[in-house]
Amino acid sequence: MSSIQQDGRYDLHTHTQASDGMNAPAENVRLAKQKGLAGLAITDHDTLSGIEEAMGAGKEIGVNVIPGVEISTRASGKDIHVLGYFLRYEDETLRSRLEQLRTVRETRNERILEKLNTLGISITMDEVISGLGRELGPDDSVGRPHIADVLVRKGVVADLREAFDKYLAEGAAAYVSLPRVGPVEAIAWIKEAGGASVIAHPGLYGDDDLVRQIIEEGQPAGIEVYHSDHGPEEEERYRGMALEYDLVMTGGSDYHGVRRGQVFHGDLGSRTVEADVLEQLRSRTGL
Ligand code: AMP
Ligand code: FE
Ligand code: FE
Ligand code: ZN
Repeated sequence: MSSIQQDGRYDLHTHTQASDGMNAPAENVRLAKQKGLAGLAITDHDTLSGIEEAMGAGKEIGVNVIPGVEISTRASGKDIHVLGYFLRYEDETLRSRLEQLRTVRETRNERILEKLNTLGISITMDEVISGLGRELGPDDSVGRPHIADVLVRKGVVADLREAFDKYLAEGAAAYVSLPRVGPVEAIAWIKEAGGASVIAHPGLYGDDDLVRQIIEEGQPAGIEVYHSDHGPEEEERYRGMALEYDLVMTGGSDYHGVRRGQVFHGDLGSRTVEADVLEQLRSRTGL
């Protein structure tokens, strides 16, 4: 058994070009090395397609790569993200479940473009895909940031923030939400694939009652206490919630790379946890 017990710090939330990150998976691994981290997790939206490349790079340069995912779910009219770690990433059931989510995502993206067209903004899926700056892999996931990028490129909006505020954010003019899996079910999927589940960035939902309800019903392994969009107050609040429910306190930058000169959500390595958090997560896999 290859149990990599590496002391040091870990960024447990990073995105790659497999979803809406800007870097190739191997590039995130190189950055982790450069920043002196012992390791990182690859947590792309609804896909596992960046993991193998990252694991290969990790072996080569001596960085511990934790296979992960960030599943987009819906509950009480909100987008709730559930992170999974140490999954059997070749698991066929998990793969086909994520594939279904990506199909919903594709339909959702088409509907967003239709709405934009109705608003007099002409954008095609070809433009979105050609703007990716890379070949779209069969299991890669396309998201709103890619659409936002085209809106900026076409001069419809000045920057990505305006793209979200005016058109793409929840409640904005071209917002579309389709029925998705619920967080409790996503937690179960992760468990079934031998992984440990974590409620991502709870501070972003503005609804701690809902977060509590998900914890009580789904019994995840952990909660993301440290995140680029959490301030000291959120960290304190979710540390409290973790203690209350006996959850592992995880953290990560939610690094998406640099898009149009800006780092989203935080720089790789700017939020990290110690190696013992990994061991805590590992001890709660598949429960
Ligand atoms: P999607 O998964 O396609 O619905 O897109 C959600 C992603 O869009 C999130 O993971 C973020 O990376 C990004 N995002 C969401 N809201 C904003 C915002 N207001 N500004 C910039 N990026 C955002
Ligand atoms: Fe994202
Ligand atoms: Fe997220
Ligand atoms: Zn994320």
